[in-house]
Amino acid sequence: MRVYFHTFGCRANQYDTDVVRQRFSDEGAVVVDDPALADLAIINSCTVTHESEVKLRRFVRHVAKSGAAQTIVMGCAAALDDGSIAALPSVRAVVANADPEAVLTAAGMSLPFSAKRRRGQGVRSRALLKIQDGCDEHCTFCATTIARGDNRSRPVAELVEEARVLAANHAEIVLTGVHIGTYGQDRFPDPGRKPGVYPRQDHTLGRLLESLINAVPEVRFRLSSVEATEVDDTLAHLLVEAPRHLAAHLHAPLQSGSDHVLKRMGRHWYTAASYRARIEWLAERMPVFGLGADIIAGFPGETQQDHDATRTLLNALPLTYLHVFPFSVRPDAPAARMTGQLPPEVIRARARELREVGDAKAGTYRERRRGAWADGIVSGRQAGKVELLTEDYLPVHIRSEDWAGQSRFAVEID
Ligand code: SF4
Repeated sequence: MRVYFHTFGCRANQYDTDVVRQRFSDEGAVVVDDPALADLAIINSCTVTHESEVKLRRFVRHVAKSGAAQTIVMGCAAALDDGSIAALPSVRAVVANADPEAVLTAAGMSLPFSAKRRRGQGVRSRALLKIQDGCDEHCTFCATTIARGDNRSRPVAELVEEARVLAANHAEIVLTGVHIGTYGQDRFPDPGRKPGVYPRQDHTLGRLLESLINAVPEVRFRLSSVEATEVDDTLAHLLVEAPRHLAAHLHAPLQSGSDHVLKRMGRHWYTAASYRARIEWLAERMPVFGLGADIIAGFPGETQQDHDATRTLLNALPLTYLHVFPFSVRPDAPAARMTGQLPPEVIRARARELREVGDAKAGTYRERRRGAWADGIVSGRQAGKVELLTEDYLPVHIRSEDWAGQSRFAVEID
C-alpha cells in the first residue's frame, strides 16, 4: 500500500503523524510524497482556529481530486467532527485524535506496536518526543482541550528509552505535548499506571529533563511551547546553566497583556506582571535567549486600553519573535458565545499593529546576533543550502559545499 501523509497544526500533531507513519512503514506500507501516487492519504487535522478547519476541508477535496483512492482524517478536528468531515469526498474514516492502532484498523491493517520500531525513524537531525497529551485547563478560546481530553503524562522510564533510541539518529530532541508544563501533574492516573508507582511530586518537567539529559548527554533538548510561569526552578537552572543540553529558547504563550482579557480567556494561572517577572528573571541570567510568544488580537471584550496594554508589554519584553493570531470564532469554544465580539476590521487592525511590534523585535534581535558564533543543528536541506537552527531558534543557512556532513557544529550567524 502506498500512503501519503499530511499534517496540520502543532508539533504534537507532527509527532503523532511521525508515529503513525512509522507504524505504517513497519507494516510494509510505502510512504509517498505525492497524493496522486497514493492508495491512501492520512491527514492529521487541527482545530486551533476556524481557518485551520477551512484549510483542512479544502485540502481533503484537493487530495480527492488529485487521485488518492481514499483518505483517513485523524487528529483534533476529527475528534470534534459532527459528520461534515466524514462526508467530504473520498473520506474512508475519521479517527479521533492519534491512536496509531485505530488508524491502522481504519486502513484495514493492524499489529501490536513496539516503540523500538522507531529506531529507523529517519536521518533528520531534529526529532520530536511527545511527553504528555491533553490538558486540564479550559481556556475559553480553545477547543483543543475538548478534543484531546485530560492531561496524561507518559512514564519517565518509557521517555528515557525512547530518547535513547532517537539519540542514535538525532542531535536535537524537542519535547512536545499539548500542555507540557503540567507534565506529571495528572489529575487522574493513566489507566495502565499502578497507583503510587510515580509519586506526583517526583514528576515535573524539570525532573524529567534531568533524567533525559543524564541518559543522553550528547543530545540538545528543546522545549516546545511552555507557559512562562510553569518554568520552575529546576527548569530555569537548566536553561541558565546547561545550554549544551537544553536550548536557550522558550516559546511562552502570552495571549494578552491585559489581566482583564486574560481572565475572560480563563488563563487564571498568571497575570501580565507574573509572566513578565519570570521572563525578566531568565533574561537577566541568560546572555543568549530566544523568546517567542503567541498573542490573540481582538478577543471578545478587548478594549482599546487592553490592546494598548498588550502592545506596551510586548515592547517591554525581550522577545525575539511573535506569533499573532487574529481572534476567530471556534464554534466548540466558549468564547464563541461571549458578549463583546469585535468587528473583523478592528481585529485585523489590532493584529497588524501587534505583528509590526513582533517584526521589529525579531529584526533587532537578529541584527544583535549577526556575526556571533552559535551552536547549530542541521534542520533541513534545500537548493544547494543547508539550514541550521541555533540554540536561540534562529535559522542560519550555509552552502552545501561548505558542509562536512555533521549534524551539530558551531556556525556564524549571518
Ligand atoms: S492551556 Fe488553554 S490553550 Fe493551552 S491546551 Fe490547555 S486549554 Fe488549550
